[in-house]
Formats: sequence, C-alpha cells, structure tokens
Amino acid sequence: MTENICGWIVQSPDAVAQPSLRGLQKADWLIIGGGFSGLSAAHTLAELHPHARIVIVDRQRAAQGASARNSGFVVAHENPASNELIGRQGNAYYQRSTEISRAASEEVRQRVNGLGIECDLREEGYFFAVHDPSKLEEAELKVQTLREAGADAQFLQGKALAQCLGTGFYRAGIECQGGNALLQPAKYAKGLRDTLPENVSLYEYTDISGLERLANGNVRASSVDGSVEAAQVLICVGPFLPRVGLRDRAVFPLELSASLSRPLSEDEYNQMGRPSPWGVLSTRPAGATVRLTPDRRLLIRNTVEYRHRDLAGPSLGIRRQTHLRGLQRRFPWITEHHLQYTWTGHLSATRSGEPRFSMLERGIYTVAGCNGSGVARGTLWGRLLAEMASGSQSSLLTKVLSQADPGWLPPAPFFDIGASVRLRYEACRAQSES
Ligand SMILES: Cc1cc2nc3c(=O)[nH]c(=O)nc-3n(C[C@H](O)[C@H](O)[C@H](O)COP(=O)(O)OP(=O)(O)OC[C@H]3O[C@@H](n4cnc5c(N)ncnc54)[C@H](O)[C@@H]3O)c2cc1C
Repeated sequence: MTENICGWIVQSPDAVAQPSLRGLQKADWLIIGGGFSGLSAAHTLAELHPHARIVIVDRQRAAQGASARNSGFVVAHENPASNELIGRQGNAYYQRSTEISRAASEEVRQRVNGLGIECDLREEGYFFAVHDPSKLEEAELKVQTLREAGADAQFLQGKALAQCLGTGFYRAGIECQGGNALLQPAKYAKGLRDTLPENVSLYEYTDISGLERLANGNVRASSVDGSVEAAQVLICVGPFLPRVGLRDRAVFPLELSASLSRPLSEDEYNQMGRPSPWGVLSTRPAGATVRLTPDRRLLIRNTVEYRHRDLAGPSLGIRRQTHLRGLQRRFPWITEHHLQYTWTGHLSATRSGEPRFSMLERGIYTVAGCNGSGVARGTLWGRLLAEMASGSQSSLLTKVLSQADPGWLPPAPFFDIGASVRLRYEACRAQSES
C-alpha cells in the first residue's frame, strides 16, 4: 500500500503544533488557510496594522498543504506560447504577465531574506526541456521572447544539454535564468509559518465550515469546537471555498502527484556525470516536472487530474508506477527501491489562467487561482490581498487586479466532463514528455 507522505515535509524539521481553536475568539482580522497566500497575507497585515489582533487558522497543520507539496519552482518566466512570441498578437499580454511573475518571484526573495528562511533557495534558474524537439517549436524565437521579458535564456541541445542534466533523454531545451529559482517548498512554507509576528495567533487543526454575519456587522467563522469573530476575513483556501460554506464558480482543483527518490549513491551520481542541481519544466501542461535536488535526490511530478479528494491507497500506487516509469525513461538504472516518498496535492486553477481576487461581501475577501505558479504568485497574492482589504494602493496591485479575470466555469456536470476530457487530451499531447 502506497502511503501519501510528502518527502519535503519529512525533511523539514518539525515545530510543535499550535493548538486548535476552542471557544470564542475575537480578532480584528481572520485569515482562513495557512498556505503561501494566507501566511504571506498574515505577514503583510501585521506590518500594515501592528496593533491589530490577527488570527490565522488551518484545517490541518499550517504550511503542509499544496504549499509544502509542490515541486519548488519559483517561476518568474513561463514558457511563452506560440501566439505570445515576439511580434505576435499575444506578446504584449506575455510581457505584462511576466512583469507580474517577476514581481512575484522577487516577493519570495524578500520574504526569504527578510525573515531569514533557510529553504535551499537556488538562483540558477531552470530548463524548459523536451524529449521530442517538435514540442519546443520556434526555439530561437522563444529565447528572444524570454530575453525581451528580462530572462537570461539560452538554447541547448545534444551533448551540452545532456551534460547539464546527466541524461540524454532531453534532446532540446532552453536554460532560463534571471529571476527563476528553485527551493525546498516545505522549508519555505514552514519558514513563513514559524516567523509569524507577535500580533498573529495561529490555530491549527481548525476546519472552518461556515461563516455568518452578526448583528454588529462582524463575521463569525465556526469550526467544530470554536469560532472567531472578526471585522475582516481573508479566505486563502485555494480551490476549496465551498468548504467554508461559499459557492465558487471561478476556481477548480487539480490534483497532482509526485515522488522523491532517496539520495543517489556516489556511483549513481558518477553515472550521471556529477551535474549541479537542476530543474526541468515541460513545455506541455501535462508533461513531467523533474528535479535533481542539492542532496542528490530525483523528484518527478508527472500526473495531473481533475479531482476534489486526495488519491489514496491503490490509486496512489498506480500514480507511483507512473512516476517510476517517467524516471526510468530518463535514468534507466532507477528501480522501485529508489522511490522513497510519494504524495499528492491540490492546486487551484482557473479557466483563463488568471487569479480570482474578490470581495465576496463587505469585509470578506478571497484570492485563489495560482495555476501552478503558486510558490511565487501565492506569496505575492497574499500580500496584495492584505493590501486590497486594507484599502492600500500600489501600482502592482492595480496591475494585478486589471488582469485578474478568472473566467466563468460552466455548472456540473458539464464542467466535470469537459475538464476530464481536456486533461486526457493534454496527457496524450504530453505522452513523449511524461
Ligand atoms: C504536486 C504539486 C506541484 C506543484 N509545483 C509547483 C511549482 O513547482 N511551482 C509553483 O509555483 N507552484 C507549484 N504548485 C502549486 C502551488 O503549490 C500552489 O499554487 C500553492 O501552494 C498555493 O498556495 P495557497 O496558499 O493558495 O494554497 P495551499 O497551500 O493549498 O493553502 C491553503 C490552505 O487552506 C487550508 N484550508 C482549506 N480549507 C480550509 C478550511 N475550511 N478551514 C481552514 N483551513 C482550510 C488547507 O489546509 C491549506 O493549508 C504545485 C502544486 C502541487 C500540488
């Protein structure tokens, strides 16, 4: 039986769990959800309102949801799509969107440096690399587009690429630096959690199941054993707004799964040619994300599904076999015994790829829709949501809000069928890259 154990979390020294919420608490601000968005919002609120009482709650341990379970890519530059290349219609959009991503990546650096978080942050960037060169169309134009958007990008193929990655599987790639980075996500999330300022109280294992408006205008958020009454509430629960009793027509969950190997032996590392740590992103949404970590483990994430509930037991075992096959295609000497941890996590997606920032009602704000770039964007969204709810203005907030149109989702079962079919189609398109 495959257990759902996140290798990143196991490797992050554990702090003592905070108590769960009991009885009634009163606060100026309540944040529901302790991932990158919620934790980052808590830090910003504490800066903006040093005398306010801020409460943050999470239904499990804070900093152990998707924010700890991801692949650790700090994305400042996405792979430009064909219509976004220089001279094409979508290029202006790509430039605007990249400005936001670069600001988001910078926000991570500021949090890491400002709070002194040890999270193995590496600034060497990552690769967009492919097995089938036809999946990296117009590579030279892509390089130019990335450079125009501030990246330090270069095209690599053949031996030069194989030397960087320690495998001949990838035939072509773009090495992309200039704000793009890799980190250990559970350490980063835990760092945000462990450095919460004094005027922020954290309650863990506190599952909020409903919100209610009180006669004095405040909002009461309730869990099984307690409740918080607050004037302002920020909801940062990714794709799970319905869990707090609210409808959602903009954001949906995607479940991803990943495996992490044990550290490679000296012989295995020699076989690879002793490359420096690296990260590869696929040019296809359903292709594999792969990393060689600083402690010489291999990470692979090569499944993505439209699901609301965690995969478990035999189903997770099947995904683990998919991870194993993916690694073996790159490193034929990898065996089942190399895989030490396998886990899943949910990210929040939107139809347009843009986030949803909104005031749902007076004093109730929410953000979601990191769409796979939540390490950087989630960190920034948290700060911007706190600023928006505090009435602060900034040109970055204006820029993000002007793009934040998540698109509308058709009702069930039409959306459920459409999403499943689309993901199967994407999986077929990415077969050579999984
Ligand atoms: C396998 C995987 C790989 C990924 N790889 C990358 C990557 O390399 N780079 C990248 O940028 N992004 C990546 N992502 C996406 C990224 O992890 C997310 O976008 C990001 O973590 C979102 O942060 P968040 O704070 O919005 O959500 P979360 O981290 O999910 O936090 C939401 C929190 O809300 C809590 N919560 C939910 N409901 C309630 C409730 N009712 N009451 C109280 N608390 C509640 C949850 O327990 C959770 O802790 C990946 C995601 C996965 C799953």
